[in-house]
Amino acid sequence: MENKFKFYNTLTRNVDTVIPHEDGKIAMYTCGPTVYHYAHIGNLRSYIMEDVLEKALRYVGYDVKRVMNITDVGHLSSDADTGEDKMLKGAKREHKTVMEIAKFYTDAFFEDCRKLNIKRPDVVEPATNCIPEFIHMIEVLLEKGFAYVAGGNVYFDTSKLDDYYVFSSQSEKELLVGVRDDVEEDVNKRNKNDFVLWFTKSKFEDQALKWESPWGVGYPGWHIECSCISMKHLGEYMDIHCGGVDNIFPHHTNEIAQSESYTGHKWCPYWFHVNHLNDKSGKMSKSKGDFLTVSLLQEKGYDPIVYRMFCLQSHYRKPLEFSYEVLDNMSAAYNKLVKKIAELKSEGSVDEARVAAYRERFSEALSNDLNTSMAITIVYDLLKDDMNDATKLALIQDFDTVLSLNLATARAAGKEEKKEVDAGLEAYVLAKIEERKEAKKAKDFAKADAIRDELAAKGIVLKDTREGVVWSMQ
Ligand code: AMP
Ligand code: ZN
Repeated sequence: MENKFKFYNTLTRNVDTVIPHEDGKIAMYTCGPTVYHYAHIGNLRSYIMEDVLEKALRYVGYDVKRVMNITDVGHLSSDADTGEDKMLKGAKREHKTVMEIAKFYTDAFFEDCRKLNIKRPDVVEPATNCIPEFIHMIEVLLEKGFAYVAGGNVYFDTSKLDDYYVFSSQSEKELLVGVRDDVEEDVNKRNKNDFVLWFTKSKFEDQALKWESPWGVGYPGWHIECSCISMKHLGEYMDIHCGGVDNIFPHHTNEIAQSESYTGHKWCPYWFHVNHLNDKSGKMSKSKGDFLTVSLLQEKGYDPIVYRMFCLQSHYRKPLEFSYEVLDNMSAAYNKLVKKIAELKSEGSVDEARVAAYRERFSEALSNDLNTSMAITIVYDLLKDDMNDATKLALIQDFDTVLSLNLATARAAGKEEKKEVDAGLEAYVLAKIEERKEAKKAKDFAKADAIRDELAAKGIVLKDTREGVVWSMQ
């Protein structure tokens, strides 16, 4: 097929046209969440933009296979393999086992994805499912001389590569800025950036998850997960690898080092990185403890889809600052847009020529380095256009396969609701608010959220204020 889809490739530092290794097909890999806590809305910015990338590629005609790992072992407090295991930290915090923590936060992550209309990748694989694959890759790296054993751990030897810093011409010192909490000096490392492929119990006596290996009982390093899991499902060649910008170094740099040393050839030519969501105090991060989640936004009366629209209105390569003022404006804009769409009548016949012209414009916006705000502008443009309502509706439904802003379904929900609640609206909502209050008191937050969602689907928005819960119709 003809290739026109371009995005900024961190590897070449250019906006490159995507040419997949198999015509018409895209093999795509996403670094999944570390499931020791809820995802914050910063993490979810990355997953929203990666979701739009996948849907945009499908929209322009590619058959996409997307794989994502779940990091449930091996990710230490610092990305440079120092500090405590994040999963263990979560288990201690909540007095649960590591696997209970992993299950709970994996489910919570996909629940957030559902609320934000983020499609589940075709394959989702927890790291703890793939221990034999990790061991095999490490054995090959040792055989080929790219790894060494020291102090009971297995390390990747970065000095064996001509070009370890593939992403950047920056100095080593600058790159190390991305390495957080790096306080502990590991004396076993031959070179500063060597990284752990396999930890043994000699490093962490209290490690909860451990497995037999040729190097002793232990557990895998974080970076090896993504190399193995992607190859398990996508083979030795893939097309697009995604993540947040903090993954560029050391995580993605190390993935490339070990994958290409293992296969003996180039691995992934296109790297898509989403810039950070910041709050006023800087980058949002889970380790800060106090962070914004989708549930918290809902508690405050926001429809999660408004947050999706907030992300889509800004370019993925720019840092984005979160504030409630901007979210309030976005909420008003979203409600106005949905209302306008709800007023369209499905009359007339669809004008196929106009549809084709608009589809072309929409594809161009997406193909031009994923210009999502332009894609939304096209929705506003078509609403102002002189074509009939049926054509407008057909286009909105079509565009929403990528934008996933419930533009067409919000319309249906708004209509159904009126019939159902007109009679006893006040009594109905107050009973639901009471039911939600009871659920919260019983710490049944899933039920409380479900009640809020049920009301939101009917266009009823709840706001928690100091004076209690207030409600309004959208
Ligand atoms: P983690 O669960 O910490 O492994 O992170 C999951 C994903 O979120 C990774 O792709 C990170 O690069 C990304 N990420 C982390 N913090 C932010 C942030 N503040 N804004 C956007 N993406 C982020
Ligand atoms: Zn990864």
